[in-house]
Amino acid sequence: MKTLVLDKTQIDTAANILKNGGVVGIPTETVYGLAADALNGEAVAKIFKAKGRPMDNPLIVHIADFSDITRFDLVSEIPESAKALAEAFWPGPLTMIMKRTDVVPKEVSAGLDTVAVRFPAHPVAQAVIKAADTPLAAPSANLSGSPSPTTARHVLNDMDGRIDAVLDGGSSEVGVESTVITLAAEVPRVLRPGGITVEMLREVLGEVEVDDAVLHRLKDGVQAASPGMKYKHYAPKANVILLKGDDKAFISYVNAHAGDEVCALCCDEDLLELSVKTLSLGRRNDYLTQARYLFDCLRRIDENGTVKTVYSRLPSTKGVGLAVYNRLIRAAGFEVIDLEAL
Ligand code: AMP
Ligand code: MG
Repeated sequence: MKTLVLDKTQIDTAANILKNGGVVGIPTETVYGLAADALNGEAVAKIFKAKGRPMDNPLIVHIADFSDITRFDLVSEIPESAKALAEAFWPGPLTMIMKRTDVVPKEVSAGLDTVAVRFPAHPVAQAVIKAADTPLAAPSANLSGSPSPTTARHVLNDMDGRIDAVLDGGSSEVGVESTVITLAAEVPRVLRPGGITVEMLREVLGEVEVDDAVLHRLKDGVQAASPGMKYKHYAPKANVILLKGDDKAFISYVNAHAGDEVCALCCDEDLLELSVKTLSLGRRNDYLTQARYLFDCLRRIDENGTVKTVYSRLPSTKGVGLAVYNRLIRAAGFEVIDLEAL
């Protein structure tokens, strides 16, 4: 299959491919998505094939207005909490899980009785959904397990020849996938942290829980509330190891383990002191910038093919830092060295 590269003047071409059951990589403010008509099970199945995604991992349905939830009859009931969150954060990087109707194909919900819905803020994403005149199911547009794509180039690196087209809308601003919150539980619970922080959600809803799988490896036999959380994810080919400790401990550990095959994923403040190859996520307390560049850095680690070990700082769990922490700990397969305990 030849993958067309479209620009934002070609929204109608992308929409026509989607209406005809094709798959298109589209820009959103979080990461690039791999979109298909969410109401067409056969089209959605092509997304799983292109990504190599396990069929038990459900997809997020993207809409272009809050009223699309009722217009397309996606959920059986809209909870008051969903209205309040939409008022505060939509369009934006927040996905809400609600009880689904039978309109939602089984491929989208992966056998669950719920559906995840998001209204993205990116103008190109909104224009494509409107022009296709249907909600779009879209997971991140990477091969399953790889770092998510934040540019059209990243999408092509993984998907060239596997999908009908990619629509280039520039770099994704948030850089990590949307916050996922379930409103189908008794107390609203964050299943995946993202650009809308737990602190922001609590300001609107009061009580909000954070699922155990956000920070920790799932114990054997425990069922994942969000199936995506059980897989190793976001990982470069090189081995990522997280180091827990203060600035000095981080720098001296990395320098003591320096070598041609070693790289440090660090902050701007560390750059002058490290004696290995470096990739900086941004300034130490600038979590928004760290989120924006995380996946690009994880992809760049493999680019010259020589790096085998990556030492990274353990990120903060405050604000958007929690989203960076959640992705990095999965990229590391939960491998953390506690420098204070050495
Ligand atoms: P991605 O589209 O790659 O950002 O992945 C979507 C994430 O949302 C995955 O972690 C899914 O497991 C999760 N997700 C989607 N729909 C549901 C749902 N109905 N219930 C729980 N998690 C969901
Ligand atoms: Mg993904």
